Amino acid sequence: MKKIPMLIDGEWVGGDSDEWLPVYNPSNGEMIAEIVNATDNQVEEAVAAARRAFESAEWRAFKPYERGQLLYEMAAFIRANKERLSRLETEDVGKPLFQAESDVEAAARYFEFYAGAADKSFGDSIPIEDGLLDVTVLEPMGVTLHIVPWNYPLQIISRSVAAALATGNAVIVKSAEDTPMTAHALTEWFKESKLPKGIFQHITGVGSEAGAKLASHPGINQITFTGSVKTGSSIMQAAAKNIVPVTLELGGKSPNIVYADANLEKAANGVLNSIIQNAGQTCSAGSRLLVEAQIKDKFVTMLKERFQTLKIGAGIENPDMGPILNKRQYEQILKKLEQAKKEGQIVVGGNAITVAGYEGGFYIEPTIIDGLNHESTIAQEEIFGPVLSVFTFHNPEEAIRLANSTNYGLVTGIWTANIDVAHYTASRVESGQVFINSYGAAGGIQMPFGGYKKSGIGREKSHLALMNYQQIKNIAIKYEI
Ligand code: NAD
Repeated sequence: MKKIPMLIDGEWVGGDSDEWLPVYNPSNGEMIAEIVNATDNQVEEAVAAARRAFESAEWRAFKPYERGQLLYEMAAFIRANKERLSRLETEDVGKPLFQAESDVEAAARYFEFYAGAADKSFGDSIPIEDGLLDVTVLEPMGVTLHIVPWNYPLQIISRSVAAALATGNAVIVKSAEDTPMTAHALTEWFKESKLPKGIFQHITGVGSEAGAKLASHPGINQITFTGSVKTGSSIMQAAAKNIVPVTLELGGKSPNIVYADANLEKAANGVLNSIIQNAGQTCSAGSRLLVEAQIKDKFVTMLKERFQTLKIGAGIENPDMGPILNKRQYEQILKKLEQAKKEGQIVVGGNAITVAGYEGGFYIEPTIIDGLNHESTIAQEEIFGPVLSVFTFHNPEEAIRLANSTNYGLVTGIWTANIDVAHYTASRVESGQVFINSYGAAGGIQMPFGGYKKSGIGREKSHLALMNYQQIKNIAIKYEI
């Protein structure tokens, strides 16, 4: 059994005296590895090592362009290991291989994007008065903590770690207990890289133990977290005690709004992909369909036909859709489907399935539910499975009202041929990202990503994310002769 150690202060940590936790392959339920459940002492050591590394002369001497070079090298490593990394991600998360391959490409792109930014992030000079030169300098936050979820581990580690290293921080990654494999592969590379020891560290373990200990540690200067609202809220409370900024990306209940004049073929494909990607276990999943009343039956039929032809199977077999992450998530989704059967009508799907040869895996049919009350918990709460709820509207105002009536506001898809309607709707929806006639266009490394309302605080991706990891120092210089 593969034993995955942690990286603390440049050394592998994990031995007989540690508690080891199992990691399973969601496609067949088999154990594939073990991780260390970090102790309080190990967390203390990691935070202390990060502080020493951050303050070291060696790290101060590391020039911004050298940080950039190192991140470019990481991107090259990711590309050169595309096959191995995608297989690891598929084995660990369950997603189809083609989706893992696109995650690997996105990870490489994050490192390249922020590599380029490493020596191009700078302050301003501010005109105040004669004899006074006022400048702002951007400085790293210090020790940044990256708490990563299980649904896109490779991408989510890459997007925040690349930005934090580009701007000169010492980073600690806490990977999700279910999916440590690609985090470990990146860690192996960092260990052998030119980075001073302690600048990149990887901690594993139970979220409510090691994760909570890290999040509340006074030695942490900034926290980036992706995951549930509940955990996000507790991390924010921990950060509040230390007056530490947080970047939170907390999921959504994102709508696709389909107007009657839309290209329905393209809209149906977009809606389908937005909910089956990673079996619906995606923060930006398009889990609500808001469709204009006069095309509802036709459009739902188009979707139903597409849902029925989807191939579901083990990630490694490259199906259209893979399994659910683990038994806990699987049972939660099935429970919600039972509730949906009572409160609405199942158009297609609605059940667990068994995949021949992979009987231990956690498979659920892609599902469309109609007839729910929009106030119901199923319509309002993140299901984190391949479950789409359908609602109708009669005019743009009603579409906008429905789109905005959840606690979330991460992504909105708008499908229409009418440019006025498209812009009007985009201007009124409470959503951090809006896609018109697409959903998740072009991957979006350069596009700011984050949520309105309970979908989170702050933005990741894009050059704006660099400010998550920097603080502004104003220096005023008085001169006279
Ligand atoms: P979670 O939010 O509890 O866990 C995410 C990460 O936070 C993991 O690394 C975990 O180890 C860590 N963590 C957990 N408790 C912590 C704590 N108290 N302090 C610090 N770190 C902690 O998510 P989950 O339990 O794995 O999944 C539950 C639900 O969360 C899912 O059903 C889904 O709705 C949502 N979720 C959303 C996303 C997203 O991309 N927005 C990702 C994963 C899960």
